Amino acid sequence: MGAELQDQARPERAQEERAKTRASDWLARGNLRPTRQRVQLATLLVGDGVDRHVTAESLYALSASGAEKVSLATVYNTLRAFCDAGLMQEVVVDGAKSYFDTRMDDHPHFFWEDSATLTDAPADQLEIARLPDAPDGTEVARVDVVIRLRRKR
Ligand SMILES: [Zn+2]
Repeated sequence: MGAELQDQARPERAQEERAKTRASDWLARGNLRPTRQRVQLATLLVGDGVDRHVTAESLYALSASGAEKVSLATVYNTLRAFCDAGLMQEVVVDGAKSYFDTRMDDHPHFFWEDSATLTDAPADQLEIARLPDAPDGTEVARVDVVIRLRRKR
C-alpha cells in the first residue's frame, strides 16, 4: 500500500521505473548485460511496451535528452547488438539506411517516401501467391515486403 501511495504521488516517476524494468527484462531476454547506455536506449525502444521502428539517427536524436550521452556510432552498434541478440530485426528499405524494428514476427511494412519513415502494414491483407523457385543449392531465408508510398499526384 505504501508503494501505491508513492505511485500516486509521483506518477511520472513510477512510469519511468516501469519503463526501465521493461527495458531491463527485454535486455535479459537477449542475454545482454544491462549497461547504462543499453538500458537508456532499450527504455526508449520498448519502455512503453509499444513496438517501434527506428534508424540509428532517429534513436540518437531521441537519446539526446537522456542522462547518458551516447554517440551515434554507439547507438548504431547497440542496435546491431540488439539484432544479434534476437531482440530486434533489421528492415532493409534501400542500401543507404537501416531501419530497426522491435516487432519480431514476419510482417509487411509501409515506407513513406515523403518522410522516410517506416510503419507496419496490415499483415492480414497481404497474400503472397507464389515465389520464384530458389536457385539450386539455396533456400529462401525470408521474404521482406516493403510497400513504398508516395503522395498521389
Ligand atoms: Zn514493423
